Amino acid sequence: RKTLNVYHEETASSSDIAITITDENGQVYYSNAAAQNGYLLETNFNRPFSNWKVRIGLKNTNIDALTRNSFLQSAGATLLVLLLLLGGIILTIRATDREARLAQAKSNFVANVSHELKTPLSLLSLFSEILELGRVKNEEKKIEYYQIIRHESLRLNKMIDNILDFSKIEAGRKTYNFADSDMAEVIENVLSSYRYQIINSGFDVQTNIQPDLPPVLIDCEAMTQAISNLLDNAIKYSGKVKRLSITARTVRSDLSIEIADHGVGIPRAEQAKIFEKFYRVGNGLVHDVKGSGLGLSLVKHIIEAHNGTISVESDVGKGSRFTILLPLARNGENRRT
Ligand code: ADP
Repeated sequence: RKTLNVYHEETASSSDIAITITDENGQVYYSNAAAQNGYLLETNFNRPFSNWKVRIGLKNTNIDALTRNSFLQSAGATLLVLLLLLGGIILTIRATDREARLAQAKSNFVANVSHELKTPLSLLSLFSEILELGRVKNEEKKIEYYQIIRHESLRLNKMIDNILDFSKIEAGRKTYNFADSDMAEVIENVLSSYRYQIINSGFDVQTNIQPDLPPVLIDCEAMTQAISNLLDNAIKYSGKVKRLSITARTVRSDLSIEIADHGVGIPRAEQAKIFEKFYRVGNGLVHDVKGSGLGLSLVKHIIEAHNGTISVESDVGKGSRFTILLPLARNGENRRT
């Protein structure tokens, strides 16, 4: 009986099987439950208990219900396996799609960069040749050509800096040198390097820099590059309305730098993607503007290395506003390098 009870507790308790054992007098020696619909099996024990009987039936259920349950269980398991399989297929398709998009973006990148490098180089060679031949007698024209040469070499330099920095970031070798600096000075320097382009293409730039900006712990060179990239985009993606504004002010415990344009704008669905490497919004007006798709991914990396954030608000056809927030609290020690 002890053995039967152990068996009963360990196995039969959760099963639907009813077992009854009777002795030679027909008295019930053991029973875990009554069979609901009669016994399915009835047999005698071997000797010396050949007068004892064991009856096996089903408790609380019948064969049909048992078959239905077992069918439902296997159908559920099959469905689960199918769902897992489907999930796996979807993940694989998405990964392949991402790979294909990245490969496409990389090949576009090579084409775009080659184009971007060629344009300033051909201008440099054209204007230096004109000057070299001594054909330009007018002093004003000469100065204009010299300005073009300087501007184009600066542009080339910035482009190459972006590419070099991008490869450093990809290899995890980009480092930053933080020092207390005046953000107003950084912005002024960026604006002065764009002065020629701004005046020449008829832009109206409004600067609103709070006079008593507190110093911030930044890498001046990297921050110059970030603001240059944003200003460069604001100029590149302005349509007919050539009006830009740069604002620097303290907002609660942050230093906020906003660069706004009244250009082509960015569709809402694309706004998060533009910070990805190689990503370019590929439609209409924007498509005609050349670029590498690296600028904003670098800006994001630089700003995040300063424990800051960058965000964009934009309306198609109305313009875009990029906002950098840098914490003013002195937490430079845990800044990333
Ligand atoms: P690039 O300008 O070289 O293409 P970026 O990484 O600087 O690369 O920008 C990514 C994309 O974001 C651009 O291709 C453009 O479509 C969009 N974009 C960036 N800045 C602006 C802006 N100020 N106005 C409209 N679109 C912008």
